[in-house]
This record gives sequence, C-alpha cells and structure tokens, in this order.
Amino acid sequence: MTQPANKCPICKRETLPEHRPFCSKRCADVDLGKWLSGAYAIPSDDPEDAEDILRGIADHDRPH
Ligand SMILES: [Zn+2]
Repeated sequence: MTQPANKCPICKRETLPEHRPFCSKRCADVDLGKWLSGAYAIPSDDPEDAEDILRGIADHDRPH
C-alpha cells in the first residue's frame, strides 16, 4: 500500500509543507471558513444547556 504525496482536501493538489495539510493559504482559509460556518450553524452545544433542557422536559413529563 503505497501512499501518494499528501493531497490538499480542498482542491486535491499536492500539499506544501508550509501549508499542510493544504496546498496553499487560500485552501486553508477555505477550509477554515467551512469549519466556522458549520460551527455557527449550531447555536449551542454546551452540555450544561442540554442538561437543563433535558431536566425541564423530565419535570414536565412527570407530575409530582
Ligand atoms: Zn488546495
């Protein structure tokens, strides 16, 4: 199993050591932009928030 030279995940060109794992700063920026837009799409993944919401649902379902 011989691996070819690392390929840029954005444009599939060969990567340069100074921009790894990308071929250029442009591709690194593109990837970062994707990553950030994905992160901003999710309003909150704070575990404490989720626990609060779950506790609220449980209290609502169980009359006591
Ligand atoms: Zn690239």
